[in-house]
Amino acid sequence: MIIIDGTAGEGGGQILRSSLALSLVMGEAFRIENIRAGRPKPGLMRQHVTAVEAACAVGGATCDGLALGARDITFRPGRITPGDHHFAIGTAGSTSLVLQTVLPALMMAAAPSRLVIEGGTHNPAAPPFEFLERCFLPRLARFGPQVTARLIRHGFFPAGGGRIEVEIEPAPLRPVDFGGRGPLRGLVGTVLIAGLPGGIARREIETASTAPGLPGATWHLRILPPDLGPGNTLSIEALFDDGSEIVTGFAERGLGAEALARVAARRMAGFLETGAWAGPHLADQLLLPLALAGGGGFTTVAPSGHGLTNAEVIHRFTGRRIVFTPQADGTHGVALA
Ligand code: AMP
Repeated sequence: MIIIDGTAGEGGGQILRSSLALSLVMGEAFRIENIRAGRPKPGLMRQHVTAVEAACAVGGATCDGLALGARDITFRPGRITPGDHHFAIGTAGSTSLVLQTVLPALMMAAAPSRLVIEGGTHNPAAPPFEFLERCFLPRLARFGPQVTARLIRHGFFPAGGGRIEVEIEPAPLRPVDFGGRGPLRGLVGTVLIAGLPGGIARREIETASTAPGLPGATWHLRILPPDLGPGNTLSIEALFDDGSEIVTGFAERGLGAEALARVAARRMAGFLETGAWAGPHLADQLLLPLALAGGGGFTTVAPSGHGLTNAEVIHRFTGRRIVFTPQADGTHGVALA
């Protein structure tokens, strides 16, 4: 049995999700202790409980100790069951993070799957739907499996109520060497707003569109039905020959519209200044496919806490090391040792 220390590295939910995902794929049981010890509310939150339940349903697995707030659980995987699955988080917990948990097993399964996941689709500290759809899944397709996601209904924190549908066409994973990102072809900013005064969106666009380092960006405002709110995000998508990078700012109580817009603009401008192929979020999310494909690589900005922690979990389950190698241009190469 593999023992995972939940306090290691980044100390968040990703250690649990990556452990579940790898346990299902490798058929290895694990026990995780001190779950999310590094977070203000440690232990399993609703979204993590759903992730474990989803892993149990997809992987014929059993779990000892599963409860809200639990700090230790033991997970024993069984037989993978592709097909139709429906997971309802019941709060605004992130649908994309529940997907992250079961996707590796299902994308390598013997038959296609169709998932319905209900919860949050635009949550702080999680991949928003557009990132999943336009940034992560197209890159995943290069490894072999074809996965498409549809947003049926937005779900913002704290109300939730969102819904995504995901179709998974599995395939064996092949190593991919992602080359350069190619020239920048365009920058598209989008503000989503639901059930909040329109002035917020206007101030966000004014701030971000005059921020330095975002040449020729075009801006779109999407006003969603008020009953989906309150909710507000500002995203900036950079289009390269090789796909998109998306930076997102999420509205929160106490965070001003201008501050949200400035931070998102600065993050994107910072990414554009580097020649890196992947931003920090895409980088940590591609480590599992990279490891499961058994080779390949890409370049990213400085390795993030999530990236380094994920690499450690991958090592525990697969015995393979992911190495981050500083490059002369300041980016980091990411590859399997
Ligand atoms: P954790 O904080 O351990 O629950 O992990 C959060 C996961 O969500 C990591 O894979 C992050 O890369 C990802 N993530 C957080 N914020 C974003 C964002 N704005 N865009 C894309 N992915 C994100």
